[in-house]
Amino acid sequence: MPEMKISFLGTGSGTSTNRAHTAIVYDCDDGTRLLIDTSSGNSVARSGSALGIPVEGFDQVLLSHYHPDHLSGLLFVQHARALARQDAPPLDIYLTGETLEWAIKMCNSTHLNVAEVDQEGVKNSDGRQVMRWTVVEPGEQINLGPTTTASCFPADHISGAVGWRVDSGGMSVVFSGDTRFNPKLIEAAKGARLLIHEAFRTDEDSDYANDHGHSTAGEAGRAAAQAGVAQLVLTHIDTEFDANPKPLLDDAKKHYKGPTSAAADLDQITVSA
Ligand SMILES: [Zn+2]
Ligand SMILES: [Zn+2]
Repeated sequence: MPEMKISFLGTGSGTSTNRAHTAIVYDCDDGTRLLIDTSSGNSVARSGSALGIPVEGFDQVLLSHYHPDHLSGLLFVQHARALARQDAPPLDIYLTGETLEWAIKMCNSTHLNVAEVDQEGVKNSDGRQVMRWTVVEPGEQINLGPTTTASCFPADHISGAVGWRVDSGGMSVVFSGDTRFNPKLIEAAKGARLLIHEAFRTDEDSDYANDHGHSTAGEAGRAAAQAGVAQLVLTHIDTEFDANPKPLLDDAKKHYKGPTSAAADLDQITVSA
């Protein structure tokens, strides 16, 4: 039975103090390894190392949006990778046009082994192409491995923000990205094996969550129920719920009756078709 292993390298919100920022690894049944968002600083390397996932091993990255808690770790991933694998092909980055604009600005503002940046990718000081951008449109299917494809869908957060559906081995795993309650996610997540959904606040604080472009846990539960997914994992957890995510889980479970959990840094789960 095909399986997908999911490793949570970072599960904190942008304002979280005790968790790493968002980054998730999918190990698909066909051997494809995907990095979904890149956290900030060296968290991908640090958390990955704790789980035996070397930072230099990534070849494909899917980005949800340009907020630095999701994007800025990319610099350190590519830097470590380019040093460790001198003959590696460029790191492939899949992102929307708006996210690319900010990724280019970020690369231009650093000297972390970045010499030349353009619409194609990034070259280092040796003139070697170390990153390659692929701009994606919502709904467009991209091939990532023998039986692995992905497509993004619009998120309700900032301009150019998306969530990602990954299909592999006959099952789909959907990541919300950062978003308010999102009918487009429900469409994309129909019948998914797993929904990984952000949950910034409890339902009691829905105004605060929505004002900041985020969902409540109850809204994550509603999305899971309406999409008919088989399992829900909450992530993008803020400091208030770091030690005890139970209030979030309670709200999600009011709407969604399937298996529900809150991810913590270094959690790993395996789902099968
Ligand atoms: Zn975020
Ligand atoms: Zn964000």
